[in-house]
Amino acid sequence: MPKYNFERFFDLSPDMLCIAGLDGFFKCINHSFQRVLGWKFEELISQPFIKFVHPDDVAATVREIEKLDKGISTISFQNRYRCLDGTYRCLRWTAFPEKETGSLFAVAHEITDLMEVIERLYLVVEASPTAMMTVDRNGTIRLVNQAVEQLFNYSRDDLIGESIEILVPTSSRVRHQQDRATFFGNPQMRSMGAGRHLKAMRRDGSEFPVEVGLNPVRLSDGEYVIAAIVDLTLQKNAEEKLTTLAKDLEEANKKLLQLASTDRLTALCNRRVFDERFETQIRLMKRISRSLSLLMIDIDYFKQYNDRYGHLAGDEALKTVASLLAKQVRASDTLARYGGEEFAVILPDTTPSDALQLAKRLQMIIHHHPWEKKRLTISVGASTLTFTEKTEKITVAEVAYKTKLLSEADQALYHSKSSGRDRAIHFSEIGDSNKST
Ligand code: GH3
Ligand code: MG
Ligand code: MG
Repeated sequence: MPKYNFERFFDLSPDMLCIAGLDGFFKCINHSFQRVLGWKFEELISQPFIKFVHPDDVAATVREIEKLDKGISTISFQNRYRCLDGTYRCLRWTAFPEKETGSLFAVAHEITDLMEVIERLYLVVEASPTAMMTVDRNGTIRLVNQAVEQLFNYSRDDLIGESIEILVPTSSRVRHQQDRATFFGNPQMRSMGAGRHLKAMRRDGSEFPVEVGLNPVRLSDGEYVIAAIVDLTLQKNAEEKLTTLAKDLEEANKKLLQLASTDRLTALCNRRVFDERFETQIRLMKRISRSLSLLMIDIDYFKQYNDRYGHLAGDEALKTVASLLAKQVRASDTLARYGGEEFAVILPDTTPSDALQLAKRLQMIIHHHPWEKKRLTISVGASTLTFTEKTEKITVAEVAYKTKLLSEADQALYHSKSSGRDRAIHFSEIGDSNKST
């Protein structure tokens, strides 16, 4: 090998190169050494190098020298060296011992700026209101900020060195371990368990909903993940409150709708619903050419009943009549409280004879009911509109059909009353001389 000028090479290096003795003194240092620290060559070699080391780093440095003494090389060891102006520079060392000469060959790279950036970053993370932690690929917690301490109610000494699963509810730990392995298999920035309702566990075992953001970082000594944990408790509570509120509202709306469509005393349909259904049924029966029947029901001598037993007893009797009638009608029929002691039933697809049959049944049921105070009876008037294909073609306003059907049922009811009450008559049974148009 030709003879090269290694000393010149040695001095040209921007990194700090030195040869030291195991006696603790520098033997040989390059130009960068003097440039970075400011000391002259004589000053640096005249006292043990440990004298230049920051007091807080002395113990670790001594340990590192002992390792070198045993023949173990140094990789990435950091300590701070004092400069001539009294400031310190952060150095990262690579060194190896040479047994034969009892020397240490060492290269130091100055990382003061890098350390400052890291320190500042650390301060930012520490002050962050978001809980943040660094975890290695084995799941060991390496760093936590104070927000983590507050959120989980652990001190950082409790957490650092522990497995991350300490913060995961027991039932989810196995899955968490698998997810962690998957993450490190393909580390990329993402949100953990997207779409899943993740839960974390505090020191006291209580669980709370969280969202976790994962950020992989590759450092010189391996792969890490920085996790940011957001407590969703408040959000979840607000969501739950909103859901309850929405349910209450729905209930209230239902009640309102019911109130608006039912008669308060008898719980039957009220007059408004009766009118609506009446028109709908006329339209429908006309379209399909079927009959539509109507029953008008009036309690007989109800004024007397009220006068004798009082209004409250009258109310009870009205309720009884309503429920007895309700049991007899089909789901497709509309039984409504038409007025004070009057009821009406819309009977779609019902012929005059079927309507009369039902009218008579209703009258009988009320008549034979075991009335406590006094027997009550009803009079019923029935009417029917029969739509055929012919009538379908005739344009008659629905309201005209309605008026006709109501008027005929009324006339039939009048006849029931005048011919002795407690009976049911269909309009078609009345002699023409008794009909009015
Ligand atoms: P008729 O056989 O001719 O129908 O005789 P009536 O006494 O039943 O007829 P009228 O129309 O003279 O009286 C109806 C009575 O119904 C008068 C009223 O006090 C009573 N009534 C109407 N609505 C209610 C109610 O909501 N509660 C009670 N208790 N009574 C009512
Ligand atoms: Mg009446
Ligand atoms: Mg009456």
